[in-house]
Amino acid sequence: VTKKISFDFDTIIVGSGPAGSTAAEILTASGQRVAIIESADTFGGECLNYGCIPTKSMLSVTNYLNGLKTKKTIDGLSLVKLKISKLVKLAEDSVGRAGVNNLGRLFSNLGIKTISGRAYLVNQNILDVNGSIYTAKNIVIATGGEPKIPNIPGLAESDYLTYKTFIAGVKLKAPKKVIIIGGGAVGCEYAQILNACGISVTILEAMPDVLSGQEPEASKLIHWALAESKIKVHTSIRIESVTTNPSSKFKQVHFINKDGTRAKESADTLLVATGKALSLRDGLDNIPLELEHGFIKTNSFCQTSAGNIYAIGDAAGPFRLTSTALQQARVAANNILAKSKKDLLQADYDHVPSCVFTNPEVALIGTPTLSLNQQGIKYLAKTLDFSELTKSTVDPSVKGFLKIWIDPKKRLILGACMAGGPAAELISIISLAMQTHLSIDQLAKINTVFPTVSESTRILAAEF
Ligand SMILES: Cc1cc2nc3c(=O)[nH]c(=O)nc-3n(C[C@H](O)[C@H](O)[C@H](O)COP(=O)(O)OP(=O)(O)OC[C@H]3O[C@@H](n4cnc5c(N)ncnc54)[C@H](O)[C@@H]3O)c2cc1C
Repeated sequence: VTKKISFDFDTIIVGSGPAGSTAAEILTASGQRVAIIESADTFGGECLNYGCIPTKSMLSVTNYLNGLKTKKTIDGLSLVKLKISKLVKLAEDSVGRAGVNNLGRLFSNLGIKTISGRAYLVNQNILDVNGSIYTAKNIVIATGGEPKIPNIPGLAESDYLTYKTFIAGVKLKAPKKVIIIGGGAVGCEYAQILNACGISVTILEAMPDVLSGQEPEASKLIHWALAESKIKVHTSIRIESVTTNPSSKFKQVHFINKDGTRAKESADTLLVATGKALSLRDGLDNIPLELEHGFIKTNSFCQTSAGNIYAIGDAAGPFRLTSTALQQARVAANNILAKSKKDLLQADYDHVPSCVFTNPEVALIGTPTLSLNQQGIKYLAKTLDFSELTKSTVDPSVKGFLKIWIDPKKRLILGACMAGGPAAELISIISLAMQTHLSIDQLAKINTVFPTVSESTRILAAEF
């Protein structure tokens, strides 16, 4: 006789960011009894509260104004002076509009039980939240990440900001001079936001260039754009220490340049943007979930080493993007609901478009050429500068390029990088081509509107 175990819920989801919310909605819609546990005061996770939504709302204004700057020769076009306090208010409004206040209501309308507090895994089916025990057949870990803080002497005492505390910190005291530690996507986006408000910005980057995961040409272009707007960039540096003046609170960052010389920069505010670490550490030891590169290891079905525990979004990776979190939520929810093996879905990490929303925008899809070089994979790359497009003559703010690389034998696209134009939008053309296995020759035959930046996809494809 088999004993049927009864659980409080079919699935408990830990974390209400884009990954957790989406999985909860799908599972509930399919009739499961679902609970979502959230430790923060608000639902919605990083994306909604202090990630994509507030930054993209501020960048939509600063990038628009930067675009206008290139047209300043037009008579009577005076440039608006932005105040960081106003911009931050706009970001907060966008967070509200994006639904952070309504998510709780939405969950309860859908019949999703919400539990407030930090969840700890007790065993494969049991979670503890503030001493209350909840059981579930399946658990989905969607706990995201925390800002990763480098171990630099004096940094902890410097009252630094991170992407999590930026809005609150800036509201408390508007900065005049900011040092950003880390020239990745978050560092470069914030550099341009602050710079657009007349705030002096210095970026300190350990790698040879900013946006080190991007194509080298894109990094160079962004480096140039930052320098053009008087943002100071130090690359290939190693930070030694941070000192804070006890009375003025001014901070000095001491670093060593590539050539071994010592240097320092000072500012009233430090913003640390050096990446992410896993946030759910406690409790993982109870069930030894395997980790990989510091995050929860999953298979392509989004399952952890404990089969009924799934991990999705930033907690798992490999891409720490909302778009990937949403895809993994769909995959995990599908696989929890699957009746048989043939119903299972696998996550697709080969075609993940991403974008850094700097001015110009930098979008990437596929395997970067640097990593193809490292793997010894043969490819053929071609680049089209947007100055070759008619669009750039009618709109001088259109600057940048499209680079595509293909498998020379199969003539299929291996990856692409678009810098400038509405790159975040247009990279989806390449994404569509890659996912549907369109050859570069077929891409050369698509019809595009004249004069647009999207013509670059057809024109460049025809050059292969
Ligand atoms: C400044 C910035 C800009 C970004 N811009 C973009 C962008 O433009 N496009 C893009 O695709 N991505 C962007 N991202 C990345 C994006 O925000 C993340 O990839 C996304 O939020 C990950 O979603 P998630 O659901 O996995 O985790 P999160 O959104 O981090 O949500 C995790 C939730 O789990 C909760 N939690 C953690 N531990 C526990 C626990 N033990 N118990 C209960 N609850 C817990 C947390 O409080 C949090 O609410 C940006 C990130 C930053 C920082």
